[in-house]
This record gives sequence, C-alpha cells and structure tokens, in this order.
Amino acid sequence: MKRLVLAILFLFYFFTVFAGDFDNYFFHKTLRIDFIHSGGREPEQMTIIDMKELPFWSGSTTNLIDWWNYGNNFVQVYDSATGKLIFSRGFNSLFKEWQRLPESKKKTLAFYEVVEIPYPKATVKVKFFSRNFKTWKLEQKSEYYISPDYYMIKHDKKYSDFKYELLWGDSTDYENRLDIAFLADGYSGKSMEKYKNDVERMYKFMFEYEPFKSYKDKINIWVVYSVSQEDGTDDPRKDIYKRSCLNSTFNTFGSDRYLTTTDLRRVYDFASLVPHDQVYILVNTDKYGGGGIYNFFSLTSVDHRLSRLVFVHEFGHALAGLADEYYYDEPEYADYYPDSLEPWEPNITTLVNFDAKWKSMVHDTVPVPTPDVPEYYNVVGAFEGGGYRSKGVYRPMHTCLMKELSAPGFCPVCRKALEERIKFVVGE
Ligand SMILES: [Zn+2]
Repeated sequence: MKRLVLAILFLFYFFTVFAGDFDNYFFHKTLRIDFIHSGGREPEQMTIIDMKELPFWSGSTTNLIDWWNYGNNFVQVYDSATGKLIFSRGFNSLFKEWQRLPESKKKTLAFYEVVEIPYPKATVKVKFFSRNFKTWKLEQKSEYYISPDYYMIKHDKKYSDFKYELLWGDSTDYENRLDIAFLADGYSGKSMEKYKNDVERMYKFMFEYEPFKSYKDKINIWVVYSVSQEDGTDDPRKDIYKRSCLNSTFNTFGSDRYLTTTDLRRVYDFASLVPHDQVYILVNTDKYGGGGIYNFFSLTSVDHRLSRLVFVHEFGHALAGLADEYYYDEPEYADYYPDSLEPWEPNITTLVNFDAKWKSMVHDTVPVPTPDVPEYYNVVGAFEGGGYRSKGVYRPMHTCLMKELSAPGFCPVCRKALEERIKFVVGE
C-alpha cells in the first residue's frame, strides 16, 4: 500500500512538473524567429535574419513537444542550462517545395520563412532541421543560443496598423483554442465589407465539415483588415500584376493555379496583431487556385464557384500536414515518394510501414491493397494512387476531400488526423 501511495505521489509529481513546464521555461508571449532558407538540392542553410516579441502565445501550454515529426522542416528548443527539450514544432515551407524541382540540382535560391516559439525565460538552444528527400530523415542545418534579452529581438508593441476583430469564439481564451487568423490580399479599402463577408462565407462552410463541425466551440476566427492599394492579385501568365499588400501570385513554381506568396515577413507582421495558430489569406479574385502549407499558411481565391471547397482542402494541408490524395501518370513525380520509404504524411502510405499508419482502421474483410471497385467505395482500405503518384503510393479511401473537391468530406483517416491536430493545439 505504501508503495502504491508512493507511486501515486510520484506520478502526481511527475505530471505536475510536466504540466508546469510552460511556466518554468516560457512567458505567455511569442518569440517569432524569421530566417532565410537558402541553397539548392544540397547544401542548404537556415539562417536567422530577424526576431520579434509578440504580446501573446496562442498555442497550447501543455502540448509543447510535437511528437508527430511531420513536416519537411522542424525546430527544437532546448533549455540551455539543463539540455532538456522544452518545445518542438514541424512545418513545411516553400523552399522545401522548390527543392523538389529539377532546377534545384543546378541553382540556388533563398526564401524568407518564419517559425514561432513561446518566449523563453532563460537562454535556449534552437535547432533547425530539414528533411533529406533521399533518406526521408530530418537533418540539423543550424543551431543558435538565444537569450531572452538578446539585442537582436525587437520589442515593438505592434508590427502593423490594420484594424482587426474576433468574428467567432472567445477573445480571452486563445491558448485553449485553435486560432485562425484571416488576412486579406487584393482587397482595396472599398472592398473591406466584401472581405468580411468572404471570411464568414468560408469559415461557416468549413464548420459544416467534420471534424470542424464538432470542434467549432474550440475555434477562434480572427480577421485582420489588411488593405491593398488595388483589388485582385498577380496573374503572371496573363501579364496582370496588382499592388496587393501581401504580394500573392498565381503561377507559383510555374503551376498556373498554385496561388502563394513569398512575402512571409509581411504575412506574419499582419498576423501578429491577433493570436494565431494558423494563418489564412483570402485573395480577392475569381480565378481558381490556392495553396496550403503545413503550419506555415494557407491561401485561396474567393470568387471561383469551387473556392469554398478549395478553402477546406487547403486547410487540411496546413493544419494536419495531409498529403494530396490525387495522382498523375507523369514521370516527373516518380521520385516524390520513394517506394522503399514510408512518407510522413498521415493519409498516404507506400505500405513500407502500414502499421504506423491507418492499418488499425482497416476491417479484416477488406483486402490490402484494396481494389478500387464499388464494393469497397465506402470503406477504409489502401487504394493505389495518391501523393501525385499513380503507382506505389496508397490512399485510405476511394474518395476524400484531399483527393477531389466533389468528395462528400474528409475520409475517416484525414478526419482523425485533423481531430488529433485540433486536440493538440487546444491542449486536450
Ligand atoms: Zn483522406
């Protein structure tokens, strides 16, 4: 009995210390670290260029360690005095997407990127990692000792002057909620009312889909009224260029419908006005397109007839690191997911380590690989084709919003991944 009491006391102590880690190591504020991600296929550098203090921390104060190891980039924060890992986060970036293009074998380029960590109380060691696409492993690229009073950190009260408001949720409870910060691009001053309507149209549509429907009381919707000089965005293939505040553009990496921005300094300056676990940029155009990058940002155009569905699809990438479940027959994607390695994305598999994926969700009566015939259209299995590859990569279901916009919703595997991510962010 005594031993049991001791064990309980020990457990109580252990969990108390664990739960108290945030306040031991961090202020309830954010340290934003801007860095330049540069190089070619190899070598590759991640070099700090700027640091800013933000007045709040919107992430969880209990789930500090990102145990998934998702993302093609990763940051780890260690307490410098004890060497203890106190925070980590995975994310994707435009550099890592560009690095997959053949031109990265011959050229070098630089991209501006941002990662945010809770503001440390004492000196921390921050390690930057990037995934090697040959081995699929994360490799350390740089490390920095950062003290909370380092001269390079800016302590401005705010980093942009736009108006903002909370459209849904509870403005006092952002550490225990998924905070989505909306930014406007290509909306002039006279279009701000339209922007607000577009935000409402988008998030209310997303709340009709699971798991967002079940978790809407755990979500905050913040709107930053970022005004552009002109309506619209850049469409390079038509030689159209607009003076929009976030410099979004179609034709990213030569893909006409791929809508992104490389102006991450501005994106995060505007987002810094409000608590944000996710940043969503609405682009005022009727041309089809969008982009969603895991723990980085999402964009979608707003006035195409499919925009609301693109909005939800891209958020799947950005929130849970979901892969595209569609595929092509083109050889240029042949080495995207090597046959011998298991991709990290939760909703595709090469069957190399299916146990670590959704195998437990496949019923005994369903064959793996699963024939893509009507008999199995409504069950979870492993259907060939996904992650841009028609062969060798498998997806969980016949259809899913990550495969095609005509799908009735996310497949059970994607739903589960999204739900787990929401729980992580809100501290459940
Ligand atoms: Zn899916």
